Amino acid sequence: MLERLGTILRKATDKLANAIFLDKNLVDSILRDLQRALIEADVNVLLVKQLSDKVKKAALDERIKDIDKKEHIIKLLHDELLGILGEYKQLKLKKEQNRIMLLGLYGAGKTTTIAKLGNYFAKRGHKVALVGLDVHRPAASEQLKQLAEQNKLNCFVDLEEKNAVKIWKKNEKELKDYDLILIDTAGRHTLDKDLIKEIKNLNEKIKPTESILIMPADIGQAAKQQAQEFKEAINISGVIITRMDSTAKAGGALTACAETKAGVYFIGTGEKINDIEEFNPKSFLSRLLGIGDLQALLDKIKSVTDEDKQGKIQKSLEGGKLSLEDVIEQVKSMESLGGFEKIKGMIPGFGKIKDKIPENLLENQEAKISKWEHIIKSMTKEEKENPELLKNQTSRISRIAKGAGVHTSDIRSLLKQYDMINEMISSGSDMDMSQGMSQKQMMKLAKKFGKGKKLRF
Ligand code: GDP
Ligand code: MG
Repeated sequence: MLERLGTILRKATDKLANAIFLDKNLVDSILRDLQRALIEADVNVLLVKQLSDKVKKAALDERIKDIDKKEHIIKLLHDELLGILGEYKQLKLKKEQNRIMLLGLYGAGKTTTIAKLGNYFAKRGHKVALVGLDVHRPAASEQLKQLAEQNKLNCFVDLEEKNAVKIWKKNEKELKDYDLILIDTAGRHTLDKDLIKEIKNLNEKIKPTESILIMPADIGQAAKQQAQEFKEAINISGVIITRMDSTAKAGGALTACAETKAGVYFIGTGEKINDIEEFNPKSFLSRLLGIGDLQALLDKIKSVTDEDKQGKIQKSLEGGKLSLEDVIEQVKSMESLGGFEKIKGMIPGFGKIKDKIPENLLENQEAKISKWEHIIKSMTKEEKENPELLKNQTSRISRIAKGAGVHTSDIRSLLKQYDMINEMISSGSDMDMSQGMSQKQMMKLAKKFGKGKKLRF
């Protein structure tokens, strides 16, 4: 169900959470991914634009302190997404008899949903009756009867009678014993005069406590017009969206309902009897984002700037020396800036010298980092603390390479990086660890390579 949208939303929030600087390029790239994913999920382009404009404005708002910005943006994004999903509307059953009529076009999922709802509420202690009033399709009543039998639900159908009101009248007395009556009605290809007349007639006789419109998710944004038409012609009290599981366009149907303020009570998530769930926008969004709730998402941001970790590095720095582990932490923090490609964009005047920088030197760090972590595990304590011991020590390097299952060149590359960062630090820089490398340091680093300085090893 909206898996792709979920994946992209999670990636976007991860990128936001992990970013140390929120520069324009990063925000643009996150928003581009988001826009594409939302539009693919069939969310109205205008809604998508409004959402991304708001996020962008907040990201570039200089009145919000950088330190608060990420939290602000994540909250904003969360609330905007929640806004387009609409409000939580629960189908609350009354103490008196509930007569719920399900309406909708052909194949919307009315009959299936009647059985699902019947089962759902029967399990919650209600005395449920299903009533089949779809007299147009010969197989409709039979389908309802079978579903009722399979799920041990009481069912009232008449396979011969072609007048829906008559079926109702005939069973009215017996139905008084039930506190929840779910009524299946006939559909049409479109909401035509005939259908409106028929529903109005049933309304008069049955006086339903709820009239719920059933729409399949695959109609996407067209759900907006359909909901509006039904609302105008015959008052509907809410909506159920079926087949959420079988389309990538479900975002369109959901947000369209929110736009028309036709609250979504339930969503159908499969063909089986239990494949129905209450639609709670908040938990739905949390699931899409892969988190418990907004707080969990905000906590994720905090973990990036883990104070303990930073304090430790700061300490080693003050001692004038970084261990290999510290260097890896630092490279990781550069990585969370968006990798070297991104860092380049943040350094003014970088364009002039970038050609002189050895290609791939700082790229693909992620893959390298995991290799480096293996390497470090294969080192002795002494070697970790003092990587100088490895310089020109082919035998040590080979031993570690074997242990870590890597090539000796991987070890040399790690040592290169270690050397580079350590040197940069010992050259008296004022590294602000809470921000990863400062712009000044990155500039220095770039200049160093610009001069074509030879690295040892
Ligand atoms: P009706 O004409 O409105 O009564 O629609 P039906 O209840 O007969 O459903 C039409 C088709 O949609 C049937 O094949 C159902 O099995 C299928 N269907 C209904 N709800 C869902 C759902 O949530 N997920 C999936 N995958 N199929 C559904
Ligand atoms: Mg039906």
